[in-house]
Amino acid sequence: MQWTVRLEARTSAGEVKTTELVTFSRPVVVSTLAEIGLVLSETKALLARLPAGMLCGQVAAYAALCRVCPECGVLQPLKDRRTRRLQTLFGTVEVEAPGFQMCRCRQPVPMAKVTVSPVGALLTARCTPELERVQAELGAHLVSGRGAHLGYPAAGFAGKPGERAQPHPCGRPTDRGGRPASR
Ligand SMILES: [Zn+2]
Repeated sequence: MQWTVRLEARTSAGEVKTTELVTFSRPVVVSTLAEIGLVLSETKALLARLPAGMLCGQVAAYAALCRVCPECGVLQPLKDRRTRRLQTLFGTVEVEAPGFQMCRCRQPVPMAKVTVSPVGALLTARCTPELERVQAELGAHLVSGRGAHLGYPAAGFAGKPGERAQPHPCGRPTDRGGRPASR
């Protein structure tokens, strides 16, 4: 038996594009409990491809929209096909960031052949604001020792991942020497 997960994108103009994300196979006749349902590695593959597929589709639609000259409406010539890497909460995604030769009607100097990359201009950072925020929150939790429940040791605690630092009797997390950690 086979299952295929597809991501269907529908533009505001009603155009539909379907991308195949993953395919899972299972025998119909199973002999063990382990052969039933999704396993962790398959779930991870699905969760990695879903946001990447959505991100690439959105960015491609944005680039296609920006390729149309806002002044005269003609399609600006494709100059090059660059890619950019964007770190997201769900992993690093490589997106297409094509360069377009600015339409002649908007060239600052005739025959100047200025190239523009709308996607490159949109991606002003290497990681998304959401990833930055979560990393900052996780860092704050680790420093305060409250990240131990997430499977990370407190900063300065020389234990194994997942091993909780013993709190000081005063209730505050401890440092490597068992003293209350500074806040
Ligand atoms: Zn134009």
